[in-house]
Amino acid sequence: MFQLNNILRSHIQSLTPYSSARDEYTGKEGVFLDANENPFGSADPNGADQYNRYPDPHQWAIKQKLAPIKGVRPEQIFLGNGSDEPIDLLVRATCKPGFDNILIMPPTYGMYEVSAAVNDVPVVKVPLTTDFQVDTDVVLAAITEGTKLIWLCSPNNPSGNLLQASAIQTILEAATHSLVIVDEAYIDFADTPSWTGKLADYPNLVVLQTFSKAWGLAGLRLGMCFASVELIQILNKIKPPYNISAPTQALALEALNHEAEKSDMVCQILAERQYLAENLRTLPGVQVVHPSDANFLLVQFGKDGDDIASDAKTVFEHLIEQQVIVRDRSKVTLCAGCLRISVGTRAENERLLTVLRHINNAPITTDLPLGTGKEATKPELVSNA
Ligand SMILES: *Cc1c(COP(=O)(O)O)cnc(C)c1O
Repeated sequence: MFQLNNILRSHIQSLTPYSSARDEYTGKEGVFLDANENPFGSADPNGADQYNRYPDPHQWAIKQKLAPIKGVRPEQIFLGNGSDEPIDLLVRATCKPGFDNILIMPPTYGMYEVSAAVNDVPVVKVPLTTDFQVDTDVVLAAITEGTKLIWLCSPNNPSGNLLQASAIQTILEAATHSLVIVDEAYIDFADTPSWTGKLADYPNLVVLQTFSKAWGLAGLRLGMCFASVELIQILNKIKPPYNISAPTQALALEALNHEAEKSDMVCQILAERQYLAENLRTLPGVQVVHPSDANFLLVQFGKDGDDIASDAKTVFEHLIEQQVIVRDRSKVTLCAGCLRISVGTRAENERLLTVLRHINNAPITTDLPLGTGKEATKPELVSNA
């Protein structure tokens, strides 16, 4: 039987949270002299005065609008400064540093391991199978008494595929002394229901989603975490009091009025994903375009007999020279020779394909469009951390 209290660190259970001014008085009308805010307004060159007050610490307006869309109660939602915030809070709420552990299945999203490392929490790694599925028996055998969190990413980053529902269900049913987190950052691009529908069945289930991908709001930093009311209360207890800024709350609330626009963009991205995959498969240097349920493709480069890892690096560097930036995943478990390519607009995908087609020929002399203009600033190239 799953008991949340067996998972939580004991000092977190007994912790008295900071009580903010907005927690202690929740009325909307009055003379507000309780939070040391500036009564005159905001220092703002555009004269907008709306940011002098602290935002709602619990973002109720967003949660009330989001809950029916997601089929959960508002009290089952935690909103974070990106998904990174709930990822970190889950580690801190459950794992005693240097003692408890988390379990991940590489290749997967890097932040699970980084959050564990920041908190001095050991990481147990059970690689996915060669077709990027959960090795269920090995995972179950690797779970120890100290395994507090089991991270599943579906669709998985960087492989792009959904994990088999039967495997996730097996782990949810067997791992009754752990939280099982299903990271659904890319769920809108997949043809499958969210695990949020199973929250009532599995008290150890946590689902993460984000406004950063399908909603096109990566710059706002807003991540969603769905879980039992009890676990959400714990996350609320340990989060920074005003973790979601007022402009982010206002803009996310507005975005929720435009769900159809999100769906239209998802449709376009799915069509472009298909176009990109088909065209990549015709290129001689491309060995495998892995099937994708997300908004990116994991592509293995190299020719038979080549050292495919170095070949991917050559392609990566050639693309950068032509100002097409993709992610080099060739050093990652099970991803030798692979680059991860986000699906772009048609013009961006054409540019990528053109550069790849010319890779062994003379330099491209024609003027190729540099993106759509919206994101036309030239990106800084940083090391591939
Ligand atoms: C992009 C991504 C996220 C989202 O992160 P945010 O902090 O919400 O922008 C979460 N999980 C995975 C696997 C991702 O690829």
